[in-house]
Amino acid sequence: MQNQNSIVEIGNPAISIFIKWSKIAQNYSLRISNSNREVKLIIPVNGSYKQALQFANSRENWIRTKLANHLPEIILNYGSMLLYQGQELIIKPSQDKHITKTEREIFISGPESSISGKIKGYLKTKARDHLDYSSRKYSKKLGKQFKKITLRDTKSRWGSCTSDGNLMYSWRLIMAPPEILDYVTAHEVAHLSYLNHSKEFWNTVAFLLPEFSDYQNWLKINGQLLQRYRF
Ligand SMILES: [Zn+2]
Repeated sequence: MQNQNSIVEIGNPAISIFIKWSKIAQNYSLRISNSNREVKLIIPVNGSYKQALQFANSRENWIRTKLANHLPEIILNYGSMLLYQGQELIIKPSQDKHITKTEREIFISGPESSISGKIKGYLKTKARDHLDYSSRKYSKKLGKQFKKITLRDTKSRWGSCTSDGNLMYSWRLIMAPPEILDYVTAHEVAHLSYLNHSKEFWNTVAFLLPEFSDYQNWLKINGQLLQRYRF
């Protein structure tokens, strides 16, 4: 084992890479941290430092692409900006135990370390109300009933619909503008009629929400922003 916890640089402009020798790792691998974009090269204890560097060099383009696309997490503190229904609210301290908000600010009490937990609870409650209301609206328009709504914190999908009529949504949708949340509920409710993405399915979405394609694009472009908040 050599050069433990050292830093190497590759490429031009240089990328700093932290070396981590690992007793568990079987192969050379690269990791990029979510919070600070730190690049780590993992080397198995019985591996070769030289080979590991060759591996890292061979992946230079991959690292650069990852770093360019990789947006850091947003940590919530007093003074941070929170996205709520598409509006940016500044988080401010208050004496009131209940969370209150205006068009520009959201007021929270207690130490900074408790902010993200409190906001998460608040967002989930609001998400439940809005997703319930919106799903009912489209379910009524379509004339198809759903069973129950479950909220999750999913990374890869904003919603889903099961064959027995249960709906699932990401509560992070409450951070998006209301029409984006509407698009996701219209989409999942349309799955009550068609459990696929056929032409008939998309016609049903268009019947429920004619301008849906703008909202679909918003999610493709901005959806990642909703995932950046750390709770
Ligand atoms: Zn779908």
